[in-house]
Amino acid sequence: MNIHEYQAKQLFEKFGVATPKGIVASTAEEAGKAAREIGGPGLVVKSQIHAGGRGKGTFKNGFKGGVHVVDTPEQAEEIAGKMLGQTLVTHQTGPEGKLVSKVLIAKAVDISKEYYFAILFDRGSSGHAIIASTEGGMNIEEVAEKTPEKITKEFIHPTLGLQSYQCRKIAASLGLRGTLANQAVKLFTAMWNLYLKSDCSLVEINPLAVTTDNQVVALDAKFNFDDNALYRQKDVVEMRDKTEEDPREVAASEFGLNYIGLDGNIACLVNGAGLAMSTMDIIKFHGGEPANFLDVGGGATKEQVTAAFKIILGDPNVKGILVNIFGGIMDCNIIATGIIAAAQEVSLNIPLVVRLEGNNVEAGKATLAASGLAITSADGLTDAAQKIVAAVKAA
Ligand code: GDP
Ligand code: MG
Repeated sequence: MNIHEYQAKQLFEKFGVATPKGIVASTAEEAGKAAREIGGPGLVVKSQIHAGGRGKGTFKNGFKGGVHVVDTPEQAEEIAGKMLGQTLVTHQTGPEGKLVSKVLIAKAVDISKEYYFAILFDRGSSGHAIIASTEGGMNIEEVAEKTPEKITKEFIHPTLGLQSYQCRKIAASLGLRGTLANQAVKLFTAMWNLYLKSDCSLVEINPLAVTTDNQVVALDAKFNFDDNALYRQKDVVEMRDKTEEDPREVAASEFGLNYIGLDGNIACLVNGAGLAMSTMDIIKFHGGEPANFLDVGGGATKEQVTAAFKIILGDPNVKGILVNIFGGIMDCNIIATGIIAAAQEVSLNIPLVVRLEGNNVEAGKATLAASGLAITSADGLTDAAQKIVAAVKAA
């Protein structure tokens, strides 16, 4: 799960991470009021979307920049009015962009130098790691590729946690000395507490800035949370903005389905994450493109299967469906009943290939056959993939 920058700022304040004061606004008038409350001169107006690269982004109506530094509250109000209700396209939003329905008004600071700082879950070392760089405000992937020597990585011990010598080491690697180093160490420690206590999988500050009056402050914030820990993060869950998420994924999460939307046209409904990935692979192997990853789990109910089917059919790109069920715990007849219930609710008019195997398979096949629906049954993964790819190409 992700949150907006203005929400991240609230967490910064709670955990004592130094950041300029900011107020969120949904209308130009609210933005003007917020700007007057914060007070000029020097304000920054920032589009709130779940994507980075806003500064260099362009709105679909041609207006340039999702982040503007202005002088007066009047200018802040005017710029907010230009951003709100408009769609911002950045290198992270994809060409369709994201609608800006909130802006953050913050006190602008005079930047002397920008840095990059992140704490993340590092799968390579099976632990948490800090990444820092003197090349702030830039695309960190590009820095990693072109000038890897400018990136410092520090691994955090899983039980000892972040040690103060490590914080000092990172500050030194960024060239920070004296009072700046002290402020940085304090900020890194606060970030680590925030990261750990809030069950984050990523916190990224880009830029972390040193101001002309020698303050170390977080100017931007990107957070990812571990979805499996959300049950114990009530405050975080309240920050969820479903309008920023793929509507197919929101619907799936409401039914406890593991669904990830993709760009292809062959939908898959599978039980088990490994089988779901193999199914996507074999569709691609036979020349098709999967429209989604969907694992209905080992013990899916008829309601979940019906919901899964409706989510799949709600995607206008879907031109065919492949159901691949290996009934271990799952009863094949439950899948069959769910398919029929869903197909009857939404008039199914695209090819459907079903491969059932395992627990209660005969009853499942009999249920499908008796339904009178145009379902192609398949034996094995290869047969199933070949049949659905051929059916979609012929349609
Ligand atoms: P992003 O483009 O989505 O990553 O948004 P950022 O929050 O990083 O803002 C983009 C850029 O705007 C930053 O890299 C800074 O250079 C600039 N910026 C953000 N806040 C301030 C500020 O308070 N003062 C100044 N002078 N520049 C700022
Ligand atoms: Mg940034």
